[in-house]
Amino acid sequence: LTTHQETTVNTQHSAQENNSAAFPSATVLGYPRLGPNRDLKRALESYWAQKLSDQALEGAARGVVASAAARIQELGVDEPSAVPASFALYDHVLDTLVAVGAVPERFSDLRSDAGPAKGSVTRRGSFILARGDDARQPLEMTKWFDTNYHYLVPEIGPQTTFSAAPHELVSAVQLAAEQGTTVRPSIVGPVTFLALAKDDGISATPCRPLDRLEDLLPVYAQILVQLKNAGAQWVQIEEPAVVADFAHLTQQDLQVAITRATTYLAGLTERPKILVTTPYGDAGPLLSPIAHSGVEAVHVDLVRGELKDQQLDLFTQPGSPVLVAGVVNGRNVWRTDLEAALSQLEALRQAGARVSVATSTSLIHVPHTLDGEDHLDPTLRSWLAFADEKTHEVATLALGLAQGREAITQELQISARALATRQEAPGVHDAAVRERLRAQKPADTVRADAQIRREAQARTLFGEGGLPLLPTTTIGSFPQTAAVRKAREAFRAGTINRERYHQFLQDEIAQVISLQEELGLDVLVHGEAERNDMVQYFAENFDGFAVTRNGWVQSYGSRATRPSILWGDVSRTGPGVRGEAFTVPWISYAQSLTDRPVKGMLTGPVTILAWSFVREDQPLAQTADQVALALRDEVLDLEAAGIGIIQVDEPALRELLPLRGADRPGYLDWAVNAFRRATSAVREGTQIHTHLCYSEFGEVIQGVNALNADVTSIEAARSRMEVLADVRSVGFSRGLGPGVWDIHSPRVPSTNEIETLLTSALDHVDADHLWVNPDCGLKTRNYAQTKQSLANLVEATGRVRERI
Ligand code: GLN
Ligand code: ZN
Repeated sequence: LTTHQETTVNTQHSAQENNSAAFPSATVLGYPRLGPNRDLKRALESYWAQKLSDQALEGAARGVVASAAARIQELGVDEPSAVPASFALYDHVLDTLVAVGAVPERFSDLRSDAGPAKGSVTRRGSFILARGDDARQPLEMTKWFDTNYHYLVPEIGPQTTFSAAPHELVSAVQLAAEQGTTVRPSIVGPVTFLALAKDDGISATPCRPLDRLEDLLPVYAQILVQLKNAGAQWVQIEEPAVVADFAHLTQQDLQVAITRATTYLAGLTERPKILVTTPYGDAGPLLSPIAHSGVEAVHVDLVRGELKDQQLDLFTQPGSPVLVAGVVNGRNVWRTDLEAALSQLEALRQAGARVSVATSTSLIHVPHTLDGEDHLDPTLRSWLAFADEKTHEVATLALGLAQGREAITQELQISARALATRQEAPGVHDAAVRERLRAQKPADTVRADAQIRREAQARTLFGEGGLPLLPTTTIGSFPQTAAVRKAREAFRAGTINRERYHQFLQDEIAQVISLQEELGLDVLVHGEAERNDMVQYFAENFDGFAVTRNGWVQSYGSRATRPSILWGDVSRTGPGVRGEAFTVPWISYAQSLTDRPVKGMLTGPVTILAWSFVREDQPLAQTADQVALALRDEVLDLEAAGIGIIQVDEPALRELLPLRGADRPGYLDWAVNAFRRATSAVREGTQIHTHLCYSEFGEVIQGVNALNADVTSIEAARSRMEVLADVRSVGFSRGLGPGVWDIHSPRVPSTNEIETLLTSALDHVDADHLWVNPDCGLKTRNYAQTKQSLANLVEATGRVRERI
């Protein structure tokens, strides 16, 4: 109540102020946060290592934010409120959690309970939420919509308290004001925040976080008051939940919630003007309640979504909100077709909408800048736009819209030329690749019946003292030690030659093989020491890909990945290795050192697509099939080299699952087909494995079954084998390796613990189908943990074998 009274004071005054602030003609929804040289990453990591003070960290963070804001303005996005203040140090969902005071009960000690900062969490405290401490697990982390960015999952129950503590946002606004600019603070909206939260599990009755909306809204009201008082003219409220289908919520639930939330916020008297954003897809029928709510601007993702005829009416009536048109793709690295985008914008304006130009999503999903990527082929480079170049595209389009296309003639020409060269460039269309794909027959994705394969494999792998019951194995990688990274770097820098580097890798493989023999594992691996990354290594050895020098993209917290760029038709004839198998030499070397079977290790087509920037000039399904054919060659070469077990990892199968339920069956069809195209050419006696590291399958479980691998390893240790009920529900009847060691933690599982897990696995899986392995690869573990854990795994397996 108090707030409400407070908010009505000064209404008249503020209404006038607000009216003068038109929405900027050009904006970006967000901008990369780690800094062009990952300065924030380094600052965070030294701070966590206690080598940097609180003050120094804040200073470093402020530096990154200030130079990002300056850069955005320099690129032409420079009107008041055009620069978004959304520079989370770790994660923007975490920042929103802190701003609304939704600190989970198990972290309540981190919340100050007196003074002006009542209800708030310090920076140090927020890192404990993100990273845990000795006593507790951090908040769970999961993928943000269908991107490779991970957010921290809020935990909300009936008792969770909310209180406004938007200090970060307020000081961002104040700081910018001191530097003479007006930024637009950005916060995850109440509906999306709750839709992405999970039940904190404290109450006996299950809680649906979205049911807490009424309690949360007044806190947003208070935040808006504080932002207004700090000088914000516009606030950005992000509601991407409206573009997705959720297992635990109906469309009706979301409709009711978004209608209520937006009309409530719009109805407040004391607030900045509001922009509601709907990135990552198509809001469909949920766009209408947002546009009718009374907020002053609505963003629409026009790359993934569209405005159908009647939806255009939402923006063309008297009193309609500004249409913030997301025409520049924030998700991918291709240069915008400026001509097409400008025509689209002009048509929207022609129809009567007040149009502003924007990105389709935040730019956190693309690298900073093309500056410094001079090693890229100049033609390829001319097709690309990273965050800086996209920011400039937004400004260019706004200029063209305001002053006519003559004002941007040169830019339109450059864009048109890039488009034209791309259509004709060698490599974009490779006749041989296309012909080969056309010649594929339905039979090329089919293997013999599982039972026939099983018998054939028993003869080749299990025959003459072959594999025992409950075979033990690992997922592929062994620890990537400092020595491994150093050698790779030295080779890249040219300080050691190819011969010495190869010798190093062979020595590494020999050590990994003898360690596995000593430990008594049944199916060995070569350890993947030659791979910097499970996708980039393939990108470097296939045609149709390029890799960047500095194209880092935040994955979570201080972590970033460097996705490869898939620009052309894919085949296995890369420069330097023309037509040669590139994994075979390492894997057959490993096999030459031991009598036990060595498992060949490849990355699957869907995962290669998911972790790269992929061309958009043809359907993903077609690109996936090209990758599948390149992998098919490698699979056959491994088989020909005498490798009898071949694993094709698909950890990203679930990640590309479309946000809308209706699109999912079509996706699973092509994704499964591509995997089968890669793996179905082998003989019956060759055993195909796959690996997927998550322990909740939901809708993908049908797809996982359809991959038709002889053995599937999954993550199961953390969920204590609960996932197996899911797996059994689809009648899964081939080999299964539920992980018995949670490799995400430095903890060594005891023999007893593994024995217990195996015993409960046997409740769901027949003994002759059960494999024993860790949850995932061992790349991030050290040798001490690895040796002890694997020794326990082998010992526990021995005990269980005696009982069955
Ligand atoms: N074979 C890969 C490894 O062991 C699998 C990695 C993954 O599933 N993410 O590292
Ligand atoms: Zn994995």
